[in-house]
Amino acid sequence: MRYPRKIYIVLAAIAALALFSRLARTRGEQPHTRAFFAMDTPVTLTAYGPLAPGALESTEKLIRRIENEISVTVSGSAVARLNAGEKIPSDGIAGRVLAAAFAMRQETDGAFDPTLYPALLLWGFTSGKHVVPSRGELDTALRLTGPEHIKRERGLYSLDHGSKIDLGGIGKGWASDAAVDCLRAHGVKSAIVNLGGNVRTLGFRPDGSKWRVGVRDPESGLLGVVTVGEGAVITSGNYERFFEKDGVRYWHILDPHTGEPARSGSVSVTVTGESGTLCDALSTALFVMGPEKGAKWLRSHPKYGAVILGENGTIFVTKNLAAALTLDGARSASDMRVIEP
Ligand code: ADP
Ligand code: MG
Repeated sequence: MRYPRKIYIVLAAIAALALFSRLARTRGEQPHTRAFFAMDTPVTLTAYGPLAPGALESTEKLIRRIENEISVTVSGSAVARLNAGEKIPSDGIAGRVLAAAFAMRQETDGAFDPTLYPALLLWGFTSGKHVVPSRGELDTALRLTGPEHIKRERGLYSLDHGSKIDLGGIGKGWASDAAVDCLRAHGVKSAIVNLGGNVRTLGFRPDGSKWRVGVRDPESGLLGVVTVGEGAVITSGNYERFFEKDGVRYWHILDPHTGEPARSGSVSVTVTGESGTLCDALSTALFVMGPEKGAKWLRSHPKYGAVILGENGTIFVTKNLAAALTLDGARSASDMRVIEP
């Protein structure tokens, strides 16, 4: 049987269209990645879909802009100017991160404290010239810390002379939220960003499944994997930045009561929740609190999930995250303690 030529042309066109749309679909699912160094840490942005390349370029620019506003070590940043005695607007990027930081200070009973910088400076963590300060030096620095040293008047923040702010414990989380907002505004539906262990996701993976985020183990490399939908997975650990002197290890997360590295029994804390900003501040705060106090705090704040690795190898995990956590082979489930609500 012979058909008119027209039919063959139409059939061929339909086949080509089907092939093209399939190609376009798979092409749209290809990950587009942008990796660079910013905010003192390696950054990887991964986004899916045809809009990803342009969106990633804008997102990198945005992260660099945030760094230039809130990094304490970038001269001329709003935070550096505030620390040098200038007034800065409360509605700029730095002002908004600062407000979030003080809110988290309140929420964590002072375990997270953005005014600790005078003490942190003594240890040389930002300069790389590591020293162990004397008790007297630390006490002098601690007198400059606390929320009473910052003022907000007529839309401007200012600090008492000698007091200094540091957003190092919240800034990368804030940037991760801003990155996701930027990607979304560019039409991206599926993305994952990682700023040195501060992971934030947008939507689900292109096939609709959840994201798998690795949690680092300072000993074996990988503690386990958490599966999450849209949200934040943020880790703070004492193995990130530290130095050793006379056989003692000193790290960059300080106890606001002593000005010394927090020795609370935690090795690392991973926090999950909606907001990267809050999870970042919280991972630092829970590290300071230690497993026991941290578990108590988490019981009264059920919207967060957490995995706390203790010094003795115990892994504390909140009930709401227990099913989403798969431990790596090197760690055994018998080391796991579920924090019951
Ligand atoms: P990382 O920066 O390695 O991801 P964190 O999010 O825990 O780790 O932030 C640690 C940083 O936060 C320190 O380098 C310092 O700048 C700051 N910091 C240290 N101790 C505290 C604290 N108790 N509260 C708030 N910020 C802190
Ligand atoms: Mg943090």
